[in-house]
Amino acid sequence: MLNFQNILDAISVQAKNTQEKGKIASYIPQLACIDKNKFGIALLDKNGTLFRAGDTSEQFSVQSITKVLTLSMAFDLLGDDLWKRVDVEPSGDPFNHLSLLEQENGKPRNPLINAGAIVIADILVSKLKNPKAEFLEYVRSIANDSSITYDTSVAESEKSTGFRNFAAANLIKSFGNLENDVDTVLDFYFHQCALSMSCEQLVNTFYIFANRGKCLQNNQHLNLSQIKRINAIMLSCGFYDEAGEFAFRVGLPGKSGVGGGIVAVFPDNFCVVTWSPGLNEKGNSKLGLQALEKLTTDSGLSIF
Ligand code: GLN
Repeated sequence: MLNFQNILDAISVQAKNTQEKGKIASYIPQLACIDKNKFGIALLDKNGTLFRAGDTSEQFSVQSITKVLTLSMAFDLLGDDLWKRVDVEPSGDPFNHLSLLEQENGKPRNPLINAGAIVIADILVSKLKNPKAEFLEYVRSIANDSSITYDTSVAESEKSTGFRNFAAANLIKSFGNLENDVDTVLDFYFHQCALSMSCEQLVNTFYIFANRGKCLQNNQHLNLSQIKRINAIMLSCGFYDEAGEFAFRVGLPGKSGVGGGIVAVFPDNFCVVTWSPGLNEKGNSKLGLQALEKLTTDSGLSIF
């Protein structure tokens, strides 16, 4: 009989004992001071039973993981017109690269690289009266947790050094694929990235992607077709130029953030979140990737 708790405990011990923990992202100054030794893993199975090990209730900066949530909200608001603004192909490039954007006339390869998320942010800024407050409300309602909030010091910190994101937004604007002004769109984008959540809050939120669009309160947030599309984009694009490696080693749709978090889902089975702030050279959590590889290997559970 499969025992998730034993597997998570073993993963947590292994992670705590691993010396080579990767590098903390320092290009956002506020992230540089996080303790590298933090490690948490939380898994919510399809029945809503939570398993956890390590630092799972401590909040961290969710960063690019939020791109899945802004995509969900924008997709729900705009429907298939969304795909006129952003494509669904893996980029094979790092998250902040600009070269394809120039070659492909300002239409980002997918919504999970920075350029694509900036277009999604633009859509939300156009569609919503009070974008930051309404997006926060959206996340809180899926998580059923009104304590989730933005860490504005992280947003300000990124604004002061976000030169590549300003470059991307300006390039997109020059091709006519940004409706609002660059500063307004990036103010929203930096705030979405600065959402603070714990592993437990993240599994509660991403449970909808493992549970056919329904949250733990049984409310339908996205329909089956939307869930299929978003999980497919996570599988093919969630780890930038390491998406193939993640599919190869872990075998689940997922998304990482430079705060060291990774979410992964096995539709109709479970949702799992890891947090370990040290990153590998591709900007994905080094120990998080190892932990998830061990989880799917030891449990024999992956979509493949
Ligand atoms: N806010 C970060 C950035 O734009 C998000 C990147 C990430 O988490 N991969 O650079």
